[in-house]
Amino acid sequence: MKAANWFPTRILIVDDKEHIRESMRDRIARSSERYLVETTGSGADALEKVRRTSFDVVLSDLFLKGEMDGIEVTRRICEERPETRVIVFSGQESGESQRKVLQAGAFLYLSKPIDYDELIHGIETINKIRRTEQLGHYFRILAEISYDLQSSLDLKYLADRIVQGAYGLGYQRARLYLFDSDSQTLIGLAICGGSMPAEEFAQYRIPVAARPIIGELFYQDRPVIWDKKIIVDRFGQDSIKPWMDDFDLHEIPWIDCPLFVEKNQIGNLAVDHHGQPDLPITDDDLQIMGVLAGLAAQALNKSRLFERERLANASLRSILEDVPDAVITTDLQGTITFASPSGQRILGYRPKEMTGRPAASFYTDEKGDTQAGEAVAHLIMRRLRAEGPISNMRVHVRVKDGSIVPFSLSGSLLHDDRSNEVGTLGILRDLRVLEAQSRQYRDLLEGFGYGMLLLNKDGTISFVNRKAERLLQTASEHLEGKPFTELVMPMQLATFQESLDKVLATGDEVNVNLSLQRPDQTRITLEVRLTPTRIGTEVDGVALALYDRSELSAVIQSGRLMALGQMVAGVAHEINNPLNNMLVAARSIRDRLEPSNAFSERERDYFSMIERNAGRIGEIIRLLREFARPAEFTRNPLQIRRVIEDSLTFFRTRFLHRDIYIEIDLPNDLPSVLGEERRLQQVFVNLFVNAEDAMEGQSEPKKIRIEGRSAPERVIVEVSDTGKGIPDEIREAIFDPFFTTKDTNKGTGLGLSISKSILDLHRGSIEATSNPAGRGARFVIGLPTV
Ligand code: ADP
Repeated sequence: MKAANWFPTRILIVDDKEHIRESMRDRIARSSERYLVETTGSGADALEKVRRTSFDVVLSDLFLKGEMDGIEVTRRICEERPETRVIVFSGQESGESQRKVLQAGAFLYLSKPIDYDELIHGIETINKIRRTEQLGHYFRILAEISYDLQSSLDLKYLADRIVQGAYGLGYQRARLYLFDSDSQTLIGLAICGGSMPAEEFAQYRIPVAARPIIGELFYQDRPVIWDKKIIVDRFGQDSIKPWMDDFDLHEIPWIDCPLFVEKNQIGNLAVDHHGQPDLPITDDDLQIMGVLAGLAAQALNKSRLFERERLANASLRSILEDVPDAVITTDLQGTITFASPSGQRILGYRPKEMTGRPAASFYTDEKGDTQAGEAVAHLIMRRLRAEGPISNMRVHVRVKDGSIVPFSLSGSLLHDDRSNEVGTLGILRDLRVLEAQSRQYRDLLEGFGYGMLLLNKDGTISFVNRKAERLLQTASEHLEGKPFTELVMPMQLATFQESLDKVLATGDEVNVNLSLQRPDQTRITLEVRLTPTRIGTEVDGVALALYDRSELSAVIQSGRLMALGQMVAGVAHEINNPLNNMLVAARSIRDRLEPSNAFSERERDYFSMIERNAGRIGEIIRLLREFARPAEFTRNPLQIRRVIEDSLTFFRTRFLHRDIYIEIDLPNDLPSVLGEERRLQQVFVNLFVNAEDAMEGQSEPKKIRIEGRSAPERVIVEVSDTGKGIPDEIREAIFDPFFTTKDTNKGTGLGLSISKSILDLHRGSIEATSNPAGRGARFVIGLPTV
């Protein structure tokens, strides 16, 4: 809808002679369509009419029949309705009556016969004055609004003031919406006028995408006039029906003003028309609303930014209090604009002592040369500009007590909303602490007894522990930075690559046997476990645990396993507390640093590795401790049947649920064996667990058969199952500690090795064979009789 150029002028003609009234009406109405003319014959009626409707101009004859003449009418109108201008005409050429008329407040005195050019000119002059007055009035209101909007940052206050302001400008109803660009939603903010309660309006959440019409109405680049007819023509009656109800729109036109900050629309201000049906919305209205919308947009934006900054500052401050590092910002000249309170711990300076001073004055070189500070500050700036964010640059700072301390600096440039550089942000970490920490990680990795290698995602080696150096007979500095594939025998490259890809893609652990080539051209076959290392949830590298089977079988062959077993038990006991402490310490460091993003990727890896592996060590220790309750070992005469049935107690219901059928064939007259009940129970428990695992998920009948017989000085017990059986190649290996074919989470590889050591302790025996009855495994146990 187009805005009118100008208001109509409402004119009332007062003359007691009808033919004069009518001919005047004709003449005036003919000269412009903007003139709305009414007539009356009496002064009293004229006054009534003026009271009811606001006329712009009253044209009155000086002589009127009745109590009121033209002078009286003029006086009363000017008193009661000063905005209405009166023009008086008369046939009397007396200076006296002219003076009286003007004294009564008339705007103009015309003598008859009326010169219509002069009359129209008079009316137009009145229009001009009216318009100037009107605009003056508007701008006084706008000035007040503007003043109020500048005096507050409170969103609610501002919003209310804006709609009240619009209402005060004469519009019937004003509604203010904010636009949330993240959710593309208009949010009702404030309303003034109309019948809708403010609380109800504040519930408005209008998803713009779901309402194309709203999008069309609200997203304009300037104030636009709408009315129901335009909308119906444009969108059809049906499509606007629900929308109209929602919005409680009447027939009258309204103006939608977009609120812009720069080029972004942040909201919308809608005002309904003045409420006088025959007065159109004019260009002046659009301009005035444009000005108000501009004021509103600036005020709301300021308040939003302030609010955002306040929140950001509050959370930033609490983070900055917590991080153990020093956080410092500078402007582009290198002057410190902010220093975190936490920095005092490592730098010694209070924030006040740092802000306002050049960062360069704190930097030095290793020797403490203060002149070097400038150069360091320059270098930092140059690197930030050329390479972007810096991580872990080594710098030296003269701390409060005068000593020169190495720090690790990470930093980036700071930008404002419009991505102009405004300064720098730097985080300083005490390298002495970091180095001590990384020594601890290394010690931890050293302590694992495995060879440990860390690989980056691209397969290059980033860390090698001493055990791995020994296995590969290569110093870590010759390995780090090289692709691990250089070590893999050519025929196994594909196998390795496949495993690596799998770990990186799935995040699962993978075990492979790999033949690796050493520098002296000898080769070593190692069992390699590939475990993903992660940043957050994303796999970013792989840890390789290298495990030398030949070493172990040597230990076994030399018969030292027993001693080792005892030792392991003792060690397990001793390790548990420090391990727990370590885990708690690692977690608390991580919990403290994590939220501030103070971790480098590498550190994050180490942490997740520490946690995962320490968890696993804990699990193994728990198992070891369970089995290896202190060394005393007392043997008593036992009924093997009792031992087996006690071991089965846990399993009976479990097996029932899993459709595992137990068959026991133990003659009553079996001689007693000599043994420790608890440990022997453990052996059977291990066998049952393995049997259950071996039959998991199979459709064939699941059966465990326990059969006993007597032999010279021995009792033989056979435990067989109908599971997947044990391939010949691994029949020996299954008794080795840590040998497992199960998922890492399920198998520890300890069950059978512990069972074997228990039987060794009893001078008994355990062997695995295939089940002669077809599929499945059979374990044959021998125990000495009393
Ligand atoms: P774990 O059960 O933790 O793997 P064990 O030492 O108890 O450790 O067993 C070692 C391996 O021996 C198992 O991973 C499995 O491959 C094999 N094994 C043991 N018992 C059975 C069985 N009843 N049937 C088939 N394989 C078995």
